[in-house]
Amino acid sequence: SLPTSEAHLSAVLEAVEGRNAGEPEFLQAVREVLETLGPVLNEHPEYIESGILERLVEPERQLAFRVPWVDDAGKVQVNRGYRVQFNAALGPYKGGLRFHPSVNLSVVKFLGFEQVFKNALTSQRIGGGKGGSDFDPAGKSDAEVMRFCQAYMTELVHYIGEHTDVPAGDIGVGAREIGYLFGQYRRLTHRYESGVLTGKGKGWGGAEVRTEATGYGAVFFAEEMLARSGDGVAGRRAIVSGSGNVAIYVIEKIQQLGGRAVTASDSSGYIVDEAGIDVELLKQVKENERARISEYAERRPGAHYVEGGSVWDVRGELAFPCATQNELGESAARALLKNGVRAVAEGANMPTTPEAIELLQGAGVLFAPGKAANAGGVATSALEMSQNAARSRWDFDKSENRLHEIMRDVHELCYSASERYGKPGDYVLGANSAGFVTVAQAMLEQGVI
Ligand code: GLU
Repeated sequence: SLPTSEAHLSAVLEAVEGRNAGEPEFLQAVREVLETLGPVLNEHPEYIESGILERLVEPERQLAFRVPWVDDAGKVQVNRGYRVQFNAALGPYKGGLRFHPSVNLSVVKFLGFEQVFKNALTSQRIGGGKGGSDFDPAGKSDAEVMRFCQAYMTELVHYIGEHTDVPAGDIGVGAREIGYLFGQYRRLTHRYESGVLTGKGKGWGGAEVRTEATGYGAVFFAEEMLARSGDGVAGRRAIVSGSGNVAIYVIEKIQQLGGRAVTASDSSGYIVDEAGIDVELLKQVKENERARISEYAERRPGAHYVEGGSVWDVRGELAFPCATQNELGESAARALLKNGVRAVAEGANMPTTPEAIELLQGAGVLFAPGKAANAGGVATSALEMSQNAARSRWDFDKSENRLHEIMRDVHELCYSASERYGKPGDYVLGANSAGFVTVAQAMLEQGVI
């Protein structure tokens, strides 16, 4: 006879914890998913029987490699490179590369694990993976970034391909890095394989709206979620953290929809602009000059910069954490609640701690987890892959409309799963269970592999 769902889930979790004791981020991501799957397993005992969960918590393959490169002073530098190919039941592994000093195997595995469910929610038939390096692009010259990307690709080339594994950007990896990575891939393989990387330059295979997609998508998701309670983004104040491409395009879309985004941040502090962030100035500072966020306040009358501190202390009804994992903890959640927050949508991956999620949901705040709210980026990457395969190119409006439709569908999938499994409006339950069922069913039908 089969164990009960709860007994099965705790046995799987215990085994994962035993094997991955030194990997806190990965364990946090696994726990957050497994904790919600009881009702799904009650409905699908065949997933217990065929060991779906035991397989799902283990990456199909994980690669760790040395990345040697030469800096501008002629000195040899060595970084660590990773690619975790987590699950390809739905399609080729798909997920970004993160270049940041905090990157290690635990971080890459947590991101890869989340990516599996996120990608399933997009209905685009892509598996999940993630990669990166502890290389820090900050303060590096353009030539150093190029040499690092070439060295990283010199190893990665053996494991990727348009039908195998398709990387893209994440923190520290944007169009510039994707360009250098693609150039090296092309040189090493002697093939113009457009679909091997996404987030490419728009003049050579990159999709319109890919840069904007994660941010726009998060706002579209929030809009759907708010609409269910007769609310919307228009007329609302929004607190946004981060100042990368997710934050920038969350801010842009909020303003387009008639809301007012008043903050942005980086690792040193945050800015407050009561008039609403001037998106063009923000782009100038962050995208063109790659400068600190404090520079924005220097140039914008009426805006001010706060060194250190917490952006979540600023008053607003909507919150979009778009910086990095675990940036919004318990005390931040309390501050948001005190200030009357109504909805939180995660632009980053796992930015809200489990304690903070519990507080927010307990207080009736609408909460959109990253694997649903930020799925627009990878969904648009899948659109880039299909344009590459068809040798076609969609214009901006068509691409944005398709993204909007996909985000409506992601919301609908999550909401109906939350109803089906007993907690209507619990988007954590909805995203996890809808994503899980899609992947589990494919694994079941493909046999024990
Ligand atoms: N890094 C992004 C994410 O977290 C996008 C990945 C992709 O486009 O493949 O979903």
